[in-house]
Amino acid sequence: MQKQKVIIIGSGIAGLYAALSIEKFDVLIVSNESGGKSGSSYYAQGGIAAAIAEDDDFETHVQDTIKAGAGLVDYEVAKQIILAGTERVHHLAELGVNFKRDEKGNFNFGREAAHSKNRILHINGDASGKEIMNVLNARVSEKKNIQTRYTCEALEISVYGSNVNGIWIKNEKGETEFISASNIILATGGVSALYSKTTNPLSIYGKGLGLAARAGAVIADAEFVQFHPTALDLGVDPVPLATEALRGEGAIIINEKGERFLDNYHPAAELAPRDIVSRAVFSEISKGNKIFLDATNLKSGKVKDKFPNVYNLCKQNNIDADLQPIPIAPAAHYHVGGIATNINGRSSINGLWACGEVACTGFHGANRLASNSLLESIVLAYNSAKDVEQNFIEPASKSITSQFSHKNTNAISELEDLRNVMMENVGIERSEASLKKALHFISELMKRTSDNISFLNVLTTASMITKMALEREESRGCHYRSDYPETKEVFKRRCFEPKQKI
Ligand SMILES: Cc1cc2nc3c(=O)[nH]c(=O)nc-3n(C[C@H](O)[C@H](O)[C@H](O)COP(=O)(O)OP(=O)(O)OC[C@H]3O[C@@H](n4cnc5c(N)ncnc54)[C@H](O)[C@@H]3O)c2cc1C
Repeated sequence: MQKQKVIIIGSGIAGLYAALSIEKFDVLIVSNESGGKSGSSYYAQGGIAAAIAEDDDFETHVQDTIKAGAGLVDYEVAKQIILAGTERVHHLAELGVNFKRDEKGNFNFGREAAHSKNRILHINGDASGKEIMNVLNARVSEKKNIQTRYTCEALEISVYGSNVNGIWIKNEKGETEFISASNIILATGGVSALYSKTTNPLSIYGKGLGLAARAGAVIADAEFVQFHPTALDLGVDPVPLATEALRGEGAIIINEKGERFLDNYHPAAELAPRDIVSRAVFSEISKGNKIFLDATNLKSGKVKDKFPNVYNLCKQNNIDADLQPIPIAPAAHYHVGGIATNINGRSSINGLWACGEVACTGFHGANRLASNSLLESIVLAYNSAKDVEQNFIEPASKSITSQFSHKNTNAISELEDLRNVMMENVGIERSEASLKKALHFISELMKRTSDNISFLNVLTTASMITKMALEREESRGCHYRSDYPETKEVFKRRCFEPKQKI
């Protein structure tokens, strides 16, 4: 007898790991990519944070997470994710992920900014994401209960009564198709390609968040978009990333005169928190300066040997990172907000779970600590899978096909205008004026393109980020309002839209 099916949307680390964690049911993974190099996951450089070294403990990791999260981290969530991380990381190793180890065979832990211990598990220098994704894709292809449908885009979740009853997709032939489903896990990643400077692949426009919001799911903390300070400004889109570990190894940030300037912004200079370095670099660029990462004098070796990924990216653009400073600019990198879920990935809609970057559990608060996202992705993916298994919702006896009235699902040229508007007005620095300007642009665009459902999902996400940024009249974590530069006690709370906590 054919088993019942769970539908997973997205084939990054969260989608694949959730699929591998489901034993009792058949699984269909639907993703708009072609397998292999999927999502941001493939490009992750630093690794996975896990508090398992002998001199480390979960409470220290929780406290580092809380400090980075600027007052909004949910302590219980952080504790549970960090505690569960140990077993997940060991499981990844069992699946074949070849984490770097010392001569005794114990894990070797790297260090990243704002972690007080060495706790970053990594593989092949700065190629952690690629190695993890290669292993997960291989394991998925061996599993008999997992089917994949690549190059298919999820367009709309259909909700009947209070339950999910299916999903509309644009299929392999470019046609719209309805898949009946009463149990859906969304693992569609973040939003950062909505910005004209981004480190994310150009498949990560926040469509999953948009389609969940349109179905009525509660969205949390959407205003918090983290920018990475050292994206390589080499004139390519998306912009490649120079991992933070380079600064940990002694790389410095300079202007075109060769002068360091970060100590004007923060006593820790290059090792200051990510959002402070991003704003400082942004501020210097706004004054007309060109800014560079100088890695020609690393403490422990050459870029070529220690960071081969970054070295090769520069080399492809005619820069020898061991001999020349690399031009940099901040770029949208990670979405802290997302679909509000509990620790088991449950959203506010029956039958809809979310995990990975599209979900928002409260783990990251107002700013993500480096390498905590892969950790959260695997824990939440596993928890979602187990929760679906234990609480599988039987499909309605009569199959109900929802109506679908949108005519157009094609790519749309206005996307580039939207990305520029988001970067300029809803980026590293926002103000009431810039956010209102962006909202006006988005709503006009919505009117003009309302028949295009794929773009409507993108616009819905852009609008959620902008509206929530407008509501937060303070600066906190990675949300900086130039008209409200101070942090306010009255805003020391997470934001939910619609306004209900799940
Ligand atoms: C350059 C870079 C370096 C990073 N380094 C680290 C690091 O060292 N450590 C760390 O913890 N984090 C890191 N991050 C963040 C981390 O990689 C991501 O948060 C994480 O990989 C997200 O995984 P995910 O599975 O949720 O989403 P993704 O890996 O982004 O996958 C999302 C998937 O959903 C698909 N999808 C999206 N919308 C739809 C739709 N409508 N229909 C069908 N499919 C859809 C996408 O095509 C993709 O397959 C980095 C990110 C980047 C970009």
